[in-house]
Amino acid sequence: MQYEAFYRRSIAEPESFWGEQAELIHWQKKPERVLAYDRPPFRQWFSGGETNLCYNAVDRHLAQRADQAALLYLSTETGEEKRYTYAELHREVNRCAAVLQSLGVSRGERVVIYMPMIAEAIFCVLACARLGAVHSVVFGGFAAHNLALRIDDARPCLLICADAGMRAGKAVPYKHLVDEAIKEAKFPPAKVLIVDRGLDPDMRRVAGRDEDYWDLRDDFRDAEVPVTWLEANEPSYILYTSGTTGKPKGVQRDVGGYAVALAASMKYIYGANPGETMFTTSDIGWVVGHSYIIYGPLIHGMTTIVYEGLPIRPDPGIWWKIVEEHKVTTMFSSPTAIRVLKKQDPAWLKKYDLSSLRYLFLAGEPLDEPTSRWISEGLGVPVLDHYWQTETGWAMLTYLPGVELKPNRFGSPGFPAYGFNIKVVNELTTAECGPGEKGVLTVIPPLPPGCLTTVWGDDNRFVNSYFGQFEKELLYSSSDWAVRDEDGYFFILGRTDDVINTAGHRLGTREIEEALQAHPGIAEVAVVGLADELKGQVPVGFCTVKDPSRIADAAGRAQLEKECIDKVAELLGPVAKPHKLHFVTALPKTRSGKLLRRSIQALAEGRETGDLSTLDDPNALEEIRKAVGK
Ligand code: AMP
Repeated sequence: MQYEAFYRRSIAEPESFWGEQAELIHWQKKPERVLAYDRPPFRQWFSGGETNLCYNAVDRHLAQRADQAALLYLSTETGEEKRYTYAELHREVNRCAAVLQSLGVSRGERVVIYMPMIAEAIFCVLACARLGAVHSVVFGGFAAHNLALRIDDARPCLLICADAGMRAGKAVPYKHLVDEAIKEAKFPPAKVLIVDRGLDPDMRRVAGRDEDYWDLRDDFRDAEVPVTWLEANEPSYILYTSGTTGKPKGVQRDVGGYAVALAASMKYIYGANPGETMFTTSDIGWVVGHSYIIYGPLIHGMTTIVYEGLPIRPDPGIWWKIVEEHKVTTMFSSPTAIRVLKKQDPAWLKKYDLSSLRYLFLAGEPLDEPTSRWISEGLGVPVLDHYWQTETGWAMLTYLPGVELKPNRFGSPGFPAYGFNIKVVNELTTAECGPGEKGVLTVIPPLPPGCLTTVWGDDNRFVNSYFGQFEKELLYSSSDWAVRDEDGYFFILGRTDDVINTAGHRLGTREIEEALQAHPGIAEVAVVGLADELKGQVPVGFCTVKDPSRIADAAGRAQLEKECIDKVAELLGPVAKPHKLHFVTALPKTRSGKLLRRSIQALAEGRETGDLSTLDDPNALEEIRKAVGK
């Protein structure tokens, strides 16, 4: 099959195309309609159908794959290695579901999961899915305040955590942050379930609220918890992502559309087969972890590897050793991780037998040409960049080795994925851009299966955030600049909004600004993302202070900078820490008082600042220029 014909059919005949893909999963009750699009931009896929993500990921494989490994848990932090067959995974998920049920979890209830990369985290996710509960996994690198914001939005009946995670050989407390978040939250969960790894001897338990996973699991040794069949459009999970305001957006996903989208992607995008092994190096706290550590490979009957550890410990060959030992066929990582490896001796890429590996997929941030070349040549397997967002749940631009593998072009994540009616449009006129013309990457709705169905609890925010920019034409805006070349290859040119992408993680500059402003010494602040060789972009702040005597000398400035950065770590977590803070006497603004973030960013990166006719105080820009030494 040729890509063009495959793609065209998905757009021209979505109902027959997706109706066929729906056959890839188990339906307890067949859908009545493939697509209902009566209330744009909201759409329903497979309405009337009943299915369950856990059943598709686990139970469905028992007949043929009971003894095949479903999950390999490898921790280079604790030295643990555990193998769970599909039968064992089924057992663990049933026990876990029984534990959750005993704590009051049921259909439609929310469960926040704040856990490191351990097998039990996956059991909990799948157990929620089995019960029809809505999970919301919060990345372990987020701090208490961030966790509290998510708790208040999702209002969970239960929060599941571990005592601690491990990073670079050091225990990182989790439960301690949960206690703080619950203190701050207005709608705390009634119960907290702790998977105690014995890593934090100082962990405290709150009587009546905190429960022990191992104790309860013992009570449900032989439990069988029936699958709760859900209508295809019921919510499966909420995953929070940063937007342009300080309040994180709860991306809500459905059940049926997501299962079908993932099943199809395993085949067409990843070119993977049941029985093979997938190694995705992300974290379960991100969308890549949801789709391609947990659900995608399991729905496809593969073995998934859950890895706790760094790419360079105990040595920079660890990932390739895993590929050799476990005959990984399909690997998924991020450009930042590859740039970390690129700093190491390239001999590590040749030390292990990588003949099982078919493709290495990368996503999450722009893949620069030198990195792409280095890893492709070093590994000797195709390295395929693909582009997507938390909102879409799976790739929007991609190569499709399972359909037709077109020649790779460095710097390009490929072509529109089937189902995504992508147009690059001029941001002012909305006219479609021709080849070589930069515009905003948009999708003509209905969005295909698997994409967000709404923002949790806020349909208006869904409509305004994603369809507000091109309201008249009703286009989904990705908030990314893009360009298409003469041959149809797409290139992503960065965000159109105040969101930055650091090491593949999306951060809202507003969130970081609010955290910096929580320091009593700070008056005003602007955070921008600056180009960084390793992480793609890093947040850098420009602040004015309330008391100028605090920054009169270098020691005072260094002290205040440290306090402010610590404040961000305390409120948002280490992922959001600014790389550097510059103290200035004024920030550049328009006469109407709007911060000129783009100009600050351009100046700091040594580029042209563009039109400054609305600038209020030219000295403010001059000061920024001096501060960054440009
Ligand atoms: P997130 O929702 O956190 O996964 O971030 C999605 C954003 O990451 C996109 O809107 C892009 O800005 C960026 N992104 C993801 N994948 C790629 C890619 N392959 N190339 C360039 N940018 C990407």
